Amino acid sequence: MTNIFRVIILVFTIGFAGIVYANSIENPRADEIYNLLDSGHFISDEDNRKLLDEYKSTLSVDDIIRQKLYIRLDCWSLPANTAEEMKAAVSYADQYLQIYNQPIPSLIYTDLQYCKTWYLHMQGKNDGLLTELDTAINHAYLLEDPRLIADGRSIRGSVLSYLGNFTAALEDLITAQNLYESLNLSYWANVNLGELASSYRRFGDAQTALKYQIKLEKNYLENQQFYEANQTNNQIALSLEKLERYDEALQRNRKARDFWLTIKDPIAAANTSVSIAGNLISLNRLDEADEILQQAQKIITPDNDSSYNYMNLFLAEVHFKQNKYEQAIIEITKAEQSFNANNNIRGLNQTLQLKSKIYQALQQWQQAFEALESFVESHISQDIQVFSERNAEMQARFNTNKIQNENESLIQRDKDKERQLDIMQRNENMQIIIISLVAIILVIVSIFAYRQVIRKQIFRRLALTDELTKLANRRDTYAQGHQFLKAAKQSAKPFSIISFDADHFKMVNDTFGHDLGDKVLIKLASISASMMRETDVVGRVGGEEFLILLPNINKTKAIEIANRLIETIADYDWTQIAPNLHQTVSAGVASYSNEEDLSPLLLKADKALYSAKAAGRNCVKAE
Ligand code: GH3
Ligand code: MG
Ligand code: MG
Repeated sequence: MTNIFRVIILVFTIGFAGIVYANSIENPRADEIYNLLDSGHFISDEDNRKLLDEYKSTLSVDDIIRQKLYIRLDCWSLPANTAEEMKAAVSYADQYLQIYNQPIPSLIYTDLQYCKTWYLHMQGKNDGLLTELDTAINHAYLLEDPRLIADGRSIRGSVLSYLGNFTAALEDLITAQNLYESLNLSYWANVNLGELASSYRRFGDAQTALKYQIKLEKNYLENQQFYEANQTNNQIALSLEKLERYDEALQRNRKARDFWLTIKDPIAAANTSVSIAGNLISLNRLDEADEILQQAQKIITPDNDSSYNYMNLFLAEVHFKQNKYEQAIIEITKAEQSFNANNNIRGLNQTLQLKSKIYQALQQWQQAFEALESFVESHISQDIQVFSERNAEMQARFNTNKIQNENESLIQRDKDKERQLDIMQRNENMQIIIISLVAIILVIVSIFAYRQVIRKQIFRRLALTDELTKLANRRDTYAQGHQFLKAAKQSAKPFSIISFDADHFKMVNDTFGHDLGDKVLIKLASISASMMRETDVVGRVGGEEFLILLPNINKTKAIEIANRLIETIADYDWTQIAPNLHQTVSAGVASYSNEEDLSPLLLKADKALYSAKAAGRNCVKAE
């Protein structure tokens, strides 16, 4: 019974744990933080860390799904401002890639691969990165997870665009764009759209770039994402320059510089000044350009890769146009070195062209010719590059429709999967509830059954026990005596009984009162019970009459035991119970000798007891 009871408790516990587990899936605060961090809203590094720590602290140990989400969030939130930090971020991703390398594909493994390759890209370590990224994107497709596919293709698109592979870059970025928009992930759609627009511009299609950028800037301003809006404004200025709309570009750049000054970033402001100078030169406002470049020179150093080269190119151009050729030669040389170092072919072409013009003006024909020759050589390689880029664009646009269809079916499949999961989840919850209810009912029923059994046992014990002395009562003693007799008959082993009776007990009652008489009876019971073996039975069979059953004990031994008993009782210090009290007992011993029943044996014992009484009491007689 106890075992069944335990099993039921176990079932109940498991059922209950099931409910608790089902509930532990609910963690609204963690989900809130996740959504906030994933929304892309600007959060300072410090707040970001705090939120991540809070996210982690809300998780239970068995919430494996969110534990994994935490690692993913953590990877993307690592500081990456210095080369050291970026290296550490790559190691972080590597460490968890080792831990979660089973099963593959998995969401966490794929996302950690993205995270790792992104930090490698930021370090400029683009070799080998694409192979790992390709693998990760393949996994995202195997997992049929549109969000993960979008992230992977957006990242790869950015890398490819940076590396100048526009076909592949546009294919990735357009796919990611459609996915993000279909999934209503507007923040990520915007980030991707920015990348897409930059790629179009790099690619020579400034008109398309501008179209996207204006849409994007509007989105950012509506969302009050001013930092992002400013970045986009910068991009718009670049597109306007490409389209030779210099006045508008100038306005845009001035607005950007104001922004950098407001947020106190003088280097970014100086970089923008260089762009402003470029616009002013195009508008032939040379003095203004010169002034602004002089200011920028105070801030921009040779290790500023993005602006030092153009700053010198523009200075040379201004001074060339102002007929300050000697100065222009110094500046154009710096520009050439810098563009060469950065491997910037476009900038180098402009530089070589201008260099040739300056030498022409100086009538140094040999140098002018050499510069022109270098320019032609460089220009041809640029043309080849531009030509292949245009081809790539046509291909990418052609593919867009196909990609869109693919995306739609992918999202549809994803929705179906979600619905299926939802139904499965609901079924699972229902099962847990049913199991738990059944377990609860079983527990209640078994508690009742268990109580019933206990009660029965109590009644049974009450029915067989003498209430005063807690010895076996008359009925139980005779029943057990009967069993012993039967066993003795079957095994031919001895069996003896001792019947003993308190001497002059009536007088005890009369002298000390009935309550004290009870105490004497209790004492007699405890003395006699303590002297017997575990297998013996001592019972109270009458008012002050007791019967001892001694299985496997022959007559001689039984007489010995009876003598020891009456001596012990007689030696007991009865004055502890009442002054002047001295209690003795008389005992009659009988042993089994083929009696059919217990009664003749009892009769023999009673006869012996009678003899003992007759012999003056406090003695033992046997039959
Ligand atoms: P003898 O030595 O011949 O046995 O004398 P006795 O007085 O013990 O014998 P008798 O049979 O005359 O008296 C028995 C007394 O035991 C009578 C009764 O009051 C008392 N008695 C029986 N049951 C109980 C009991 O449960 N509690 C108390 N206090 N007395 C009891
Ligand atoms: Mg008596
Ligand atoms: Mg008696």
